[in-house]
Amino acid sequence: MTPGRVVLGHWPTPFEKVQRLSAAIGREIWFKREDLAGAALGGNKIRQIEWLLGEALAEGADAVLTTAGAQSNFCRALAGSAAKLGLACTLVLRGPAPPSQGNLLLDAVFGAEIRFVESADPWDPSLAAALDEAARSLRARGRRPYVIHLPGVSAPLAAQAWAVAAEELDADWRAAGIEPGTIVVAAGSGLTAAGLALGLARLGRRCQVRAVSVQQPADRLGPWIADVVRRAADRAGWALPPTLKLAVDDAWIGSGYAIPSEASLSALLRVARSEGVVLDPAYTGKAMAGLIGALHKGVLPEGPVVFLHSGGLPGLFAAADAVAAAATREVAPA
Ligand SMILES: *Cc1c(COP(=O)(O)O)cnc(C)c1O
Repeated sequence: MTPGRVVLGHWPTPFEKVQRLSAAIGREIWFKREDLAGAALGGNKIRQIEWLLGEALAEGADAVLTTAGAQSNFCRALAGSAAKLGLACTLVLRGPAPPSQGNLLLDAVFGAEIRFVESADPWDPSLAAALDEAARSLRARGRRPYVIHLPGVSAPLAAQAWAVAAEELDADWRAAGIEPGTIVVAAGSGLTAAGLALGLARLGRRCQVRAVSVQQPADRLGPWIADVVRRAADRAGWALPPTLKLAVDDAWIGSGYAIPSEASLSALLRVARSEGVVLDPAYTGKAMAGLIGALHKGVLPEGPVVFLHSGGLPGLFAAADAVAAAATREVAPA
C-alpha cells in the first residue's frame, strides 16, 4: 500500500552557506536547516511523521502511540503533530521518569499521555510489549490506534521519507550550483542516514552520507542501515542502487547516548559563536564534532560539506547544567 503524506512542515527548509564557520575550519560548509521544519518545533522527524501519520489517517486511526527515550525529539514532534491533526497520542518512554523539562515537558504541553517503562535499550522487547498493551487498552475503549515503532515496523517508511527528501537536497544543490562530497548527519536509529543514502544514490549523486553515531557501535549501526535501505527500497518498489556511499563514524558517542561530551559541547559553542545557530548536545553537537574531527583527519571526500541540522534544541535545555558549565569555561570559540 502506498500511503499518502500529510503535510505538516514548511518546505523546503532553508539551505545556507555558513561563511564564518567555513572560513574558520577551512572547508566550504552548508547547513540544511531541518531545525526550521516548522511543525511542533521542527527537526528531522517531521518528514518521517508526515508519512507515518499519512498512513495512520489513511487507515482511519484516531490515536497514535510510540516508544523512545524520555528526551526523544521524535516523541515531542509526534505529540505536537498529533495535536494539530486531532489525534490522541500515547508515549511509552524509557524510564525511570526524569524531571519534566526539554522534550518531556513539551510532550505534556502537547497533551500526550505518558507512560514509563524501566529500560535502557531501545531494542528491549518489553518496550514493544508495553506499546502493544497500550494499544490494546485503547482498542478496548473503542479507539483506533496506529502504532509507530521506529526501530521496528515503522523503519522502512520512516527511511523512505528521507529518501524522498533527498530530492529537495538535490534541488538545493542545483540552485546553489554546488556538488557536495559529503553530507554529515547525526545517526540514532540511522533511518535518516539510510533514507538519504538511498535517495541520493537513486538520484545518481556522488555525495557520501557520513552517519555520526550517537548511540550504537559502527559494527551494529552499519549493517542495520544497509538492511533498512533494502527494506525501504523494497517497500517503495524501487530497485536497490548498486552502490551506497555511506560511512559510519562511531568515534563521537562519548560516555553514551544523550550524555553531553566535551567534544559535542565544544562544537556546539563553536557553531553558536560563529554562526548564531544553536545545536544540541545529544545529536547535532556530536555530529558537528564528527565533521570537524573527520576534516582534521583528512578523511572527508573533496568538495563542499553539507551538515544536516536535524534539530533537537529542547535537548539543550534538558542538559542545561553541562551546557552552562562549558559556556562559562570556554569564553572564546575553540
Ligand atoms: C532522531 C534525531 C537524529 C537521528 O535520526 P535517526 O533517523 O534516528 O538516525 C538526529 N538529530 C536529532 C536532533 C534527532 O532528534
